[in-house]
Amino acid sequence: MECPYCHTVGSRVLDSRESTVGIRRRRICDNCQKRFTTYEKVSFVPVMVVKRNGKKEIFSTEKLENSLKMACVKRPIKNIEVSNIVEKIEVSINKNYHNEIQAGKIGQMCIKYLKKLDHVAYIRFASVYRDFKNIDSFTKEVELLKK
Ligand SMILES: [Zn+2]
Repeated sequence: MECPYCHTVGSRVLDSRESTVGIRRRRICDNCQKRFTTYEKVSFVPVMVVKRNGKKEIFSTEKLENSLKMACVKRPIKNIEVSNIVEKIEVSINKNYHNEIQAGKIGQMCIKYLKKLDHVAYIRFASVYRDFKNIDSFTKEVELLKK
């Protein structure tokens, strides 16, 4: 998203909400630090998420955001940090997957970003999505994080 002031492409999302005209995002430019608002029309073809049981559903950023927020409950994580992860994942899906994506792939992306953000949130999320086979593999993961 290009900054209207200095035309640099990099910006961060400060706030994101759905409106009737699309997704309204407050952004701050990485270069000049000025703030601007964008309205993004949801014009792309919806991507289907294939769940583990084979069922498909339309990819929803809202659902993704909710599941991430659940992992982040009572952690020192700002809503905007979660929204930024959602945006990165959304962009990656739209760029790399045209018809459908396995739910596990989305889970892996979430895990990757949460790991950088907060270890407790990461473990919470991973314990649901990675399906730790037993307590040993879970403990191993925690031990890895301690290092
Ligand atoms: Zn700028």
